[in-house]
Amino acid sequence: MGDLALAAGVAEAGPAGRHRTVGVDVGGVMVGGGAPIVVQSMTNTDTADIAATVAQVAALARAGSELVRITVDRDEAAAAVPHVRERLDRIGVTVPLVGDFHYIGHTLLAAHPACAEALAKYRINPGNVGFKDKKDRQFTQIVEMAIRHGKSVRIGANWGSLDQELLTHLMDLNAASTTPLEARAVTREAMVQSALLSAARAEEIGLARNRIILSAKVSGVQDLISVYRELARRSDYTIHLGLTEAGMGSKGIVASSAALGVLLQEGIGDTIRFSLTPEPGGDRTIEVKTAQELLQTMGFRAFVPLVAACPGCGRTTSTVFQELARDIQTWISTSMPEWKSRYPGVETLNVAVMGCIVNGPGESKHADIGISLPGTGEAPTAPVFVDGKKVATLRGAGIAGEFKDMVSTYVETRYGASGRAAR
Ligand code: SF4
Repeated sequence: MGDLALAAGVAEAGPAGRHRTVGVDVGGVMVGGGAPIVVQSMTNTDTADIAATVAQVAALARAGSELVRITVDRDEAAAAVPHVRERLDRIGVTVPLVGDFHYIGHTLLAAHPACAEALAKYRINPGNVGFKDKKDRQFTQIVEMAIRHGKSVRIGANWGSLDQELLTHLMDLNAASTTPLEARAVTREAMVQSALLSAARAEEIGLARNRIILSAKVSGVQDLISVYRELARRSDYTIHLGLTEAGMGSKGIVASSAALGVLLQEGIGDTIRFSLTPEPGGDRTIEVKTAQELLQTMGFRAFVPLVAACPGCGRTTSTVFQELARDIQTWISTSMPEWKSRYPGVETLNVAVMGCIVNGPGESKHADIGISLPGTGEAPTAPVFVDGKKVATLRGAGIAGEFKDMVSTYVETRYGASGRAAR
């Protein structure tokens, strides 16, 4: 090898500066305007079923959802909303509620003022707020309601329910153009225009700019990236990011992470939602945990301590390593409610659980605390590293328990009252 000179070094990757938006206060949660990116979610209960809705909102909030959207689709649902709010307050769940309205939002909000008051934000879709001459009238009524009650509004355009009059108009213009675009590009343009024109109209009616959040959800990853880039380029409205109809399981998670990850890296997005389809009877809070994991792995926010574990390979022929990685992860998750209150900042903790000597010691040294288990054929010892230094070597059947004790001590020392005082 020839001589190697130290070049300028590889710069740290990071978001290209947050796209500056005006910022909106949604029931005490700041969205945009430089505030940390907010995680939100949506229930799938019938809102008229107060007990089920309260239980699910509480579960989503406890999982870390900072805003929760509920469906308000008929009188029974609208009538239930203030009761949902009241019961949540009674059990100490203060998460702001967002009402999702389609077609008849104007009549529901007018007929149920307690619902209009209990919600922190109204979500309306410009594609189905009303048709022809009713459209502007009904849109105006909802916006006026938001002004009267001091609420914010999300104007959420959606690929599946795009404003057909606007789309037809743009398609006609395109057809008459000497350099026509592909139909898909025109549809993307219609998404952007639908959101921006509706926002401009809301401001004309009197809704302040810092009461408006925009979204333009599409189900294709590349389409979504294009639409949001354009939305951000053309305005400073606060932006809600989400890939619509993302799908089930790993498909939904990968598609949402890919789309949202690119946009967040470009500084676009003030609040995110993962629109994942749960298994029948499945855990709705997965969409919250997944959104948090995306933000944390990209370095935007910290929610829970991260456990780095190698994937394992032919050098880990026993299941000891997988069991320890899972055990530590589960133990940290279950300890978090208590840790959070006792150990401020513990969510930034990094733990490594590694399978053998190849990358184990190296990766463990990069973590706050890490363990390198013995791979096949290695001496049955597990070195533990704390803040980059080897501090112990564990052996025998009690490795998992001893390592957990060491993590507990580390957490107490670093994030406990005495650790904080020493810093
Ligand atoms: S650290 Fe060891 S066990 Fe883990 S993937 Fe690498 S070589 Fe395999």
